[in-house]
Amino acid sequence: MFTRLRHFTGMRGIATVPSYVIMQPTTLCNLDCAYCYLPLRAADRRMTLAVAEAAAATVNRWAGRAERFSVVWHGGEPLAAGREHLAALMAPFTGVEHHVQTNATLIDDAWCEFFARYEVRVGVSVDGPAPRTAQRVDRGGGPAYDKIMKGIATLRQHDIPFAALCVVSQPEPGLASELYTYFCDLGCHALGINVEEQEGVNTRTNRHAAQAVRDFWAELTVAWRADPRVEVREVEWAVRYAGAWLADQADELLPRSIDPIPSIGYDGGVVLLSPELAGFSDERYGDFSSGNVLRTPLADIISKAAGNPAGWIAEYLAGVEACRAECPYFGFCGGGHAANRFFEHGRFDGTQTNHCRNSKIGLLEGVLDHVRDHSGVA
Ligand code: SF4
Repeated sequence: MFTRLRHFTGMRGIATVPSYVIMQPTTLCNLDCAYCYLPLRAADRRMTLAVAEAAAATVNRWAGRAERFSVVWHGGEPLAAGREHLAALMAPFTGVEHHVQTNATLIDDAWCEFFARYEVRVGVSVDGPAPRTAQRVDRGGGPAYDKIMKGIATLRQHDIPFAALCVVSQPEPGLASELYTYFCDLGCHALGINVEEQEGVNTRTNRHAAQAVRDFWAELTVAWRADPRVEVREVEWAVRYAGAWLADQADELLPRSIDPIPSIGYDGGVVLLSPELAGFSDERYGDFSSGNVLRTPLADIISKAAGNPAGWIAEYLAGVEACRAECPYFGFCGGGHAANRFFEHGRFDGTQTNHCRNSKIGLLEGVLDHVRDHSGVA
């Protein structure tokens, strides 16, 4: 179905206003997961109030003009910053939705009261039943599963809704249906699945047999369709795209320009497009930072990068155009993430990565395999 090229008009250049920002309240994480990409997770470098205030000065203007605007607190482990400090960092923001992505191990009654008071949307990271979550370990190498479950049980006692994020390191038969049943029982309202990525300090390969990946996504689609209780992010993307394609409206799904996704580090440094690049540097590209909110308003940092793309950002935009010219999946994918290109290819203007084979091409084809198997369409 997706072997022929179509001309897609979205994802041209970088938008000057993002749809959300990512804030790093601390670099520290109390866990030490085997696949983690974060370089500074053993160090407790905390964001200062001055950084939060400087970011909020721009974000509050954007939020005032948008229907919804999200501030995502992502570490390290954001709860490792402590309730008092996180509350102080959130205080300058107005009119935004706060989100945390947490490993859940620190969640207790007091954190649940905090989430309720500040209306924080909670995402927890867990990879399935204990043996599937065995790569999530504490700093002594011990399994974190029981602590994760305790945190999730506390969320449930307080009726705090939560989404789950699951890393799959090895797609294999039976895994997708096992995971879907598990997450239905866990009580999350939404599920995202990341096939493990080779990025940051995680240099493990993410090359998998194409058929194994397709079969994983097809099996997940079967499980979801049999009992669509939990919203499965990736399957919904693929189903929406396939529907738009059949209605000849696929070109309307991609945003017109690329979301800059500013990620504001603990020290105020701003990395655009891929938060996974923060904390790294390279001989050719420097430290990937586009500026610092303590010196330049966030709006100006993004406007400059969008209006006059230079360095690695210009190279990334060339990569997106190469994808548009060559890849039949561009309308679904939009050109992939900068960090996947860099950490797999060592540069930004390549096209296919293992990540896009696993999580874009394999996903779309797997969902379509399911449709073909159940509709009689060849
Ligand atoms: S990143 Fe991969 S799937 Fe996406 S458009 Fe480029 S080549 Fe295609």
